[in-house]
Amino acid sequence: MKKIAMKTPLAEIDGDEMTRVMWADIKKILLDPFIDLKTEYYDLGLPQREKTKDEVTVAAANAIKRLGVGVKCATITPNAQRVEEYKLSKMWKSPNGTIRSILDGTVFRAPVLVDGIKPVVSNWKKPITIARHAYGDVYAGVEAYVPQGGKVEMVLPNGERIVIKELDSAGVVQSVHNTDKSIGSFARSCFNYALDTKQDLWFATKDTISKIYDHRFKDIFAEIYKTEYKEKFEQAGIEYFYTLIDDAVARIIRSEGGMVWACKNYDGDVMSDMLATAFGSLAMMTSVLVSPEGNYEYEAAHGTVTRHYYRYLKGEQTSTNPVATIFAWSGALKKRAELDGLAELAAFADKLEAATIATIENGIMTKDLIGLFHNESIIPKGVNTKEFLIAIASRLTNA
Ligand code: NAP
Ligand code: MG
Repeated sequence: MKKIAMKTPLAEIDGDEMTRVMWADIKKILLDPFIDLKTEYYDLGLPQREKTKDEVTVAAANAIKRLGVGVKCATITPNAQRVEEYKLSKMWKSPNGTIRSILDGTVFRAPVLVDGIKPVVSNWKKPITIARHAYGDVYAGVEAYVPQGGKVEMVLPNGERIVIKELDSAGVVQSVHNTDKSIGSFARSCFNYALDTKQDLWFATKDTISKIYDHRFKDIFAEIYKTEYKEKFEQAGIEYFYTLIDDAVARIIRSEGGMVWACKNYDGDVMSDMLATAFGSLAMMTSVLVSPEGNYEYEAAHGTVTRHYYRYLKGEQTSTNPVATIFAWSGALKKRAELDGLAELAAFADKLEAATIATIENGIMTKDLIGLFHNESIIPKGVNTKEFLIAIASRLTNA
């Protein structure tokens, strides 16, 4: 069989533990036999980050910028225990944080839907994608406890003083910020992603209460939409829709899904956990970082699945779910195919996704899904990761 050709390489970013093991197996079983895979390889496994003093992470981020598309395996974010375990010279920063700050991107998370695994909200028929603004607000807040009470003020660069409150007894205060630049980048990433995936874009804040702060978000989105995206949205037949956050929550629950929901930092933190749980499983949640310049990094939303890895090291076969990592690869290949005009590669990525879903729908799945799967005519069979990958590959070969 002739392998499918690629033009531009993908930035391939390897990672840690169980996901690193799955990474190699996915390539060997699902990609290499079908594609003449072209990648620029960056090893972000913790030992290599230590060896390069984390320069490999910066190099990987720059490669995504240069090549336009990257695919990333889950990586360990070191804490004190990992410093000990891996004998690190330093508690290296979160690779995702480093990459995100270099690309200035927004993260979009969407579930993979499968017949037989029903969302908790029964009217959701299509995936709901959450876009979380990953800068500022309460995450970069400054706060204080004021035990004696008294006048608390905010001083602006022009010398203007704004009284926050004359506290007549002990209390707490907090100040938060955001920037026009960051909000603008967030807005552009969201508009680009909605166009890319041909889904409506919803955005919500609490501008009726926060008449300057949240209103600024609303205005920046509206202005950028009007001047840069309105025509493109109309041509694509999609809509940009703004509403209040409480109204958005109510409408999302009643909806069929199928939209991109842009959230401020805190709203996105809370709502993405709610959606992931309601759609079923973290192992089925995909994630893509989109920069305002239109660079893309695809990954799974879950971590390195440490507990399974320790069992693997003892020689056990694990039943770790590779679906989100497979979809990271298919997403990256599809984007590469689109940018390079490679119809065969795009068709393969679609087939890979369809074969993965069909394998589960026909009753073969990793063990984490068994309890979630309900289909009266099929008794699901729990298999290990390799067996699952091989079942997908045989569907691809016979397709
Ligand atoms: P995790 O790796 O997502 O795993 C948490 C638990 O969720 C697992 O123990 C497993 O439950 C279940 N799970 C997650 N993914 C699964 C899959 N694909 N198949 C089957 N079960 C799955 O989160 P964590 O244990 O909190 O973090 C482990 C490491 O990952 C940490 O070092 C953290 O820094 C890193 N991390 C990286 C990223 C990233 O690179 N994007 C994101 C999050 C965390 P059972 O054990 O009950 O089977
Ligand atoms: Mg959270």
